[in-house]
Order: sequence, then structure tokens, then C-alpha cells
Amino acid sequence: MLAHYGYEDGSGHYYIRLDTAKCAECPEKGCISACPEQLFATELDDFDDEVVLIREAARNTLQASCASCKANGEMELCRSVCPADAIGFSW
Ligand code: SF4
Ligand code: SF4
Repeated sequence: MLAHYGYEDGSGHYYIRLDTAKCAECPEKGCISACPEQLFATELDDFDDEVVLIREAARNTLQASCASCKANGEMELCRSVCPADAIGFSW
């Protein structure tokens, strides 16, 4: 399942997309420790698989939280450790 977390305002759309089917099969879940803003958390989905999500309290401030990772065109830290290309950004 593709899950989208984020918001939109007058300046644009700020969503992180997670392919939770890939997360369920990812034993390391390296995105959690890689994110300097601690945006990722885990939950059990409807099939009792452990998947990741973006913490609810962080969903409305993603542009600011991810600004340093996205600076200078560098690859986001979470994406750099994800073995399954399960993370996407709308901006
Ligand atoms: S590293 Fe990638 S596949 Fe693994 S839990 Fe994180 S987003 Fe999902
Ligand atoms: S871009 Fe950086 S701050 Fe944003 S979710 Fe990925 S690792 Fe975390």
C-alpha cells in the first residue's frame, strides 16, 4: 500500500510517500535511525506486519524538518539507506 503523509499550503505540496508493502519485508528499517529529525516510527498494519509511518506530530512541518537533508541537492538520508526505494517526496 502507498501511504502519503504531509500537507499542502500556498507554497506547495509536502508529502512523503511510503510503500508499506516494502517496509513490511524490510528487517533493518534503517530509515528510522538514519533520520536526524526522527520522523519515522513503526506500527503493525492490518496484517500484523511491522511497517513504518511518519509520526503524526511531524506531518504538518515536513518542509522545515527535511530542509537540511534536501539542501544542496544531496540525497535524503532516509532514501540513501532504504534498500527498497520505498520512500518518495512530493517536493
Ligand atoms: S528502510 Fe525503506 S523499506 Fe525499510 S522500513 Fe524504511 S522506508 Fe521501508
Ligand atoms: S529527508 Fe532527512 S529529515 Fe526528511 S525524512 Fe528523510 S532523513 Fe528524515
